[in-house]
Amino acid sequence: MDLLALSSRGGSSPFAAQLRAGFANLRFRGFLERDFREILVQQNLVRGRVASLILLAMLVAATVLGWAADGSPAVKLGEALRAGVITSALALIVLATFHRTLQQHYTLIAAVSVTLLGLIVIYNSQIAATGGDAFLSIGLILVILYVFYVCLFPGLRFTVSISIGSSLVSAYFAFGFAMDVPSTQLSYSTAMLVAAVLISGLASYNLEYVLRNSFLETRLLNELAERDGLTGLYNRRMFDDLMHRIWRQSRRENMPLEIVFVDIDYFKIFNDLYGHQAGDDCLRKVARCIAESAKRPFDFVARYGGEEFVLILYGLSHEHARALPEQIRLDVMNLGILHKGSSISNVVTVSVGVAIASPGKGRSLEGTIQIADEALYAAKLAGRNRLICSDATGYEMTTGIFRVTSRQSG
Ligand code: GH3
Ligand code: MG
Ligand code: MG
Repeated sequence: MDLLALSSRGGSSPFAAQLRAGFANLRFRGFLERDFREILVQQNLVRGRVASLILLAMLVAATVLGWAADGSPAVKLGEALRAGVITSALALIVLATFHRTLQQHYTLIAAVSVTLLGLIVIYNSQIAATGGDAFLSIGLILVILYVFYVCLFPGLRFTVSISIGSSLVSAYFAFGFAMDVPSTQLSYSTAMLVAAVLISGLASYNLEYVLRNSFLETRLLNELAERDGLTGLYNRRMFDDLMHRIWRQSRRENMPLEIVFVDIDYFKIFNDLYGHQAGDDCLRKVARCIAESAKRPFDFVARYGGEEFVLILYGLSHEHARALPEQIRLDVMNLGILHKGSSISNVVTVSVGVAIASPGKGRSLEGTIQIADEALYAAKLAGRNRLICSDATGYEMTTGIFRVTSRQSG
C-alpha cells in the first residue's frame, strides 16, 4: 500500500510531508522531532532500565570479585572509581527511568553517565595495559556496544551515540599515549575500538532510520483513519468519537456546547452544472472556510456526510453563540463560487442549523444532535441561505432574519 499516494488526496499532513522530504540526516522538522524523541524515550524506558540493571549487577560482581588487596595506588583508584562513580552513574540512569522530572532530561543523563562510565573503563584498562594486561580494553568494547545498542532504546540517538563513541575512543588513545602504553598494543586496541564504533554506528543508524520511518508511517496511518480524504477534516467516525468525549466534558465542566450543521444549498444542481471535479473543489473551499472558525482548543469540524459539515464550539459565550455560525454563512457567500443553478443566489450558499446545549439542561447528546439537524431542516424549509438556532429546548428558534418555532418549521 502506498501511504503517500493515499494521503496526497487529503489536506496537508506533516507526516506525509516529512516522509516525502526524507530524513537521511536523522532529523525531523519542528514538532515531529520533539515528539519522536519523547516517544523514543517513553517506549524504551523499561528496556533501558533492565539493560542498566544488568550492567550494574555485572559491575558489582566484578568489583566484589576483582578487589585486589595488594594493588598499586593507581589500580586501587581505578577500582574505587569503578565501585563509586560507575555504579552511581548506572543507578542514576535506572532512577531516571522511574522519575517523571528526570525522564525529561533522560538523554542528557544517559549520555553523561555513559561517558563517565566509558572514561573510567578507559582509565582501568590503560592502567592494566601499562601493567602488561591488554585484556581489559575489551571492557571498553562492551561500553561501546552499550552506548550504541542498549542506549539507543532509552533515547540515545545515533548522533549522540556516535559522538560519545568516538570521544571515548579518542580518550582511550590519548590516555594510553600519555601513560606510555606500548605503541603496538595501543594502536592495535585502538583500531579494534574504531572498528567497533564504526560497525555499531552503522547498525545504530539503520535502526534509528527504521524507527523514524515507522513513527511517521504509524502517524500517517492514524491520520488517514481519522480524516476525510477530500477535505482533510475529521471523518464521521472520528466525529462520533470526539463528540462523545467533548459532550461528557461539557456536562462535567458545566460549559455550553454548540452543535452547528452546515449544508451546501442546491449542491446536486451545482454538480450537475459544473461537474463532479468542480463540486469537489467547492467542498474543499467550504470545508476550509468552516475549519477557520474552529480555532479554540476544544472546537472541531468534521465532514458529517456528502455536502454536510458539523462544527462543534465549546464554551462559547452567549453573544458569540449565533454570531460565529452566522459569520460562516456570510464567509461562504463571500467565497463567491458561482452557482447559476441556485434559485436563491448567484453564488454557492449554505444553510446552517444550530443547537446550543446550555449547562444544566437535561438533553441527551443524541437529542441535541437531532435538534441541530431539525434546525438545519427548518433553515432549508424557510428558504435556505440562512441560520436557525435553537437553545436545545426545541421550543424557540431564532434566525439572523426572523423567528420561527420548531413546530412551525418541522
Ligand atoms: P439542498 O439545498 O436541499 O441541500 O439540496 P442539495 O442538492 O444540496 O442536497 P442533496 O442531498 O439533494 O444533494 C447532495 C449532493 O451532494 C448529491 C451528491 O452528488 C453531492 N455530493 C455528495 N458528496 C460529494 C462529493 O464528495 N463530491 C461531489 N462533487 N459531490 C458530492
Ligand atoms: Mg445540500
Ligand atoms: Mg445534505
